[in-house]
Amino acid sequence: MSSESTRDVVLVGGGHSHIQVFDHFTRNRLPNARLTLVVDRRIAMYSGMVPGFVAGQYGVQDLAIDAVALAEKAGARIVLSPAVRVDTERRQIVVADGPPVPYDVAAFDLGSTVTGLDLPGVREHALPTRPITEFVHRVDTLLEDLKAEGGDPFRVVVVGGGAGGMELIFTLESRIRSAGVRVEALLIEGGPRIVYNYPDPVRWRLERAAERRGITLRCDTLVEAADEGGVVLSGGERLSCDLLVWVAGPVGHPLFEPSAIATDERGFALIRPTLQFKDHDNLMGTGDCATFIDFPFTPKAGVYAVRQGPIITRNLLAWLEGRPLVSYTPQKEFLTLMNLGDGTAIGAKWGFSFQGKWVMRLKDRIDRAFMARFQ
Ligand SMILES: Cc1cc2nc3c(=O)[nH]c(=O)nc-3n(C[C@H](O)[C@H](O)[C@H](O)COP(=O)(O)OP(=O)(O)OC[C@H]3O[C@@H](n4cnc5c(N)ncnc54)[C@H](O)[C@@H]3O)c2cc1C
Repeated sequence: MSSESTRDVVLVGGGHSHIQVFDHFTRNRLPNARLTLVVDRRIAMYSGMVPGFVAGQYGVQDLAIDAVALAEKAGARIVLSPAVRVDTERRQIVVADGPPVPYDVAAFDLGSTVTGLDLPGVREHALPTRPITEFVHRVDTLLEDLKAEGGDPFRVVVVGGGAGGMELIFTLESRIRSAGVRVEALLIEGGPRIVYNYPDPVRWRLERAAERRGITLRCDTLVEAADEGGVVLSGGERLSCDLLVWVAGPVGHPLFEPSAIATDERGFALIRPTLQFKDHDNLMGTGDCATFIDFPFTPKAGVYAVRQGPIITRNLLAWLEGRPLVSYTPQKEFLTLMNLGDGTAIGAKWGFSFQGKWVMRLKDRIDRAFMARFQ
């Protein structure tokens, strides 16, 4: 452990909460402590604009956040290597390349991974949405190479009917069509309905829009395997496709399992209202990688990671200064805005739903305002 005057504050991951911590410490330097960012890659992506990027509405630079540059501005030292384990006995973050990083207090904003990647052929043949930065670059290359050649349509399959999957099937369809390529778009969902955790009117709007656009939605359908030519469903049916996108729902980050850190059954670190881990006062978590013990059904959405940014900042400072930590209660409702890729979006809040070009303009304004703070 470091001396009292230079305690080690380590932030692991450059997600939506941590960039706000760096923003704060750029304006108000962290006293008597050494700040370190451990991150697997320099650039993080703002997820809210990823579907718009897929649709061709934004360039990579519009949604890219240079987490390393933000951390450096805050005076942090950088360890550019994936964290692989936490040694809670020795108080060290073990990284893939390089010596372990000592901490007195550490925070984790690592995002999640996608479920189902271990199904036969999926890792090799599908394009998973995690890590988001990799997804953005791979999908960009793929879509840039699309050529309007006539003949067979380009068949795209998205697996997963959550909000992310819905936005992707609409934005992919729109991008491929606007490249002058005939497109067949299919979304496969294992459960009985799409966006199961959203109000019915949102689902109805999505279903009507899909029908209008010729996008097929298949629920109650499980993918069992993938190969070069497409997917195999649980009943044995085979579907061919040219692009398979995997957005089958979030599961916990692999870091926690070997680290003696309590997780829920999906592998998310369990946190208290103060964002502290269940069994460790000096470890905290935000965003997708953590689940509230008291609110286990809080959706894994970037809006929560954003809201937790100021709380984690305050609580890291409070921990260092020996003050009581503040508690956070995740809001029950948040403004949902789903990009349909054709210049319109569907929105919902407080049981109301709405749709149109103005909704997309609103989404664009909110997203650009968020990005302006970090670019
Ligand atoms: C297509 C799509 C669209 C979405 N749209 C929306 C939306 O409109 N609104 C919304 O609220 N949510 C949306 N989501 C959900 C959203 O992506 C997540 O909830 C959000 O990204 C979580 O933010 P985070 O801060 O937890 O992690 P992330 O933003 O994923 O950041 C994780 C950070 O950790 C780093 N990292 C990962 N592993 C390691 C490691 N081993 N060591 C060190 N660093 C590591 C990463 O590089 C990154 O810097 C969408 C998701 C998808 C797939």
